[in-house]
Amino acid sequence: MSHNVLVTGGAGFIGSHLCERLLDEGNHVICLDNFFTGRRRNIAHLIGNPHFELIRHDITEPIRIEVDRIFNMACPASPVHYQSNPVKTMKTSVLGTMNLLGLAKRTGARLLQASTSEVYGDPEVHPQPESYRGSVNPIGIRACYDEGKRAAETLCFDYHRMHGVDIRVIRIFNTYGPRMDAADGRVVSNFIVQALKGEDITIYGDGTQTRSFCYVDDLVTGIMNFMKHEGHTGPVNLGNDGEFTVQQLAEEVIRLTGSQSRIVNQPLPEDDPTRRRPDLSLAKELIGYKLTAPLEEGLKKTIEYFRQLSHSQA
Ligand code: NAD
Ligand code: UDP
Repeated sequence: MSHNVLVTGGAGFIGSHLCERLLDEGNHVICLDNFFTGRRRNIAHLIGNPHFELIRHDITEPIRIEVDRIFNMACPASPVHYQSNPVKTMKTSVLGTMNLLGLAKRTGARLLQASTSEVYGDPEVHPQPESYRGSVNPIGIRACYDEGKRAAETLCFDYHRMHGVDIRVIRIFNTYGPRMDAADGRVVSNFIVQALKGEDITIYGDGTQTRSFCYVDDLVTGIMNFMKHEGHTGPVNLGNDGEFTVQQLAEEVIRLTGSQSRIVNQPLPEDDPTRRRPDLSLAKELIGYKLTAPLEEGLKKTIEYFRQLSHSQA
């Protein structure tokens, strides 16, 4: 069945892949973005498709529109961007999500909220199941994002209990792939861009902190399947449960690019989580969540994207 779908943050990294997949499945897609971290080039190939519309709008302002599915992906995801205007980040998660829940209430649309592994903060439980309540510093430099996303989850569940809004909440773990912004400071894009330019690879801290990196196609399949799933609101973890140290990631990027770059260590940012790995049992049980792209394969595709991008900008 095809839907009239709103994708907020649709010109961003994950949002643009989601718009593509939704169009492929025969839906009408309205992509909404304020272009804070999103780029027109991410969706340029979709413009002209009669089933694709683009709206420049900021979700902190209400919007009146008729849809039956909402994917709320709008929010800067990289620490560099979300910390550049922390009050705005909080507004995007709290006021923005409230506006979209209001839209879902009026239209009866199902709303999927893109939450994050950051709700677990610097976790004392490893790997992290959805039942873990997290360890977040509410006054630190990551709080605008972490607490904003936590409050957004609260709003989803209160709109669900009070007004019967049909919600799906996903907690996304570190995702990477083509169309990440080269300058947004996330570890995979930073390391690849540095390696391709032959610049020093900047490991923050000693590189023993871990992350679990998910290739964007696997995440988008999980998002699509959970949105279709009946009978569970989430929250459900989505990501990849292969765990790597940041040092291992740097070495893998150097190997796959054949770069001469050196690894250098820089100070670890405040409140940087020491380890992170999703417990994916619930996603496997509910939607038969499967991973198809091992790190090496996903990195190769992402390296290729950044290679082509640097040629097209040269
Ligand atoms: P991104 O920065 O590439 O995309 C976010 C998009 O939202 C951008 O296009 C940006 O312009 C838009 N946006 C930001 N504030 C907005 C506002 N107020 N109004 C309208 N549009 C706005 O980031 P991404 O990696 O694609 O992340 C997408 C979503 O997934 C975010 O909600 C993020 O918190 C979540 N998430 C991502 C990851 C990850 O590893 N990539 C991990 C956990 C959660
Ligand atoms: N990181 C790093 N070098 C960089 C960018 C990031 O060592 O150039 C580290 C960062 O300190 C963190 C990990 O890589 O420990 C993942 O960082 P990212 O910003 O991608 O995501 P998050 O910290 O939000 O998981």
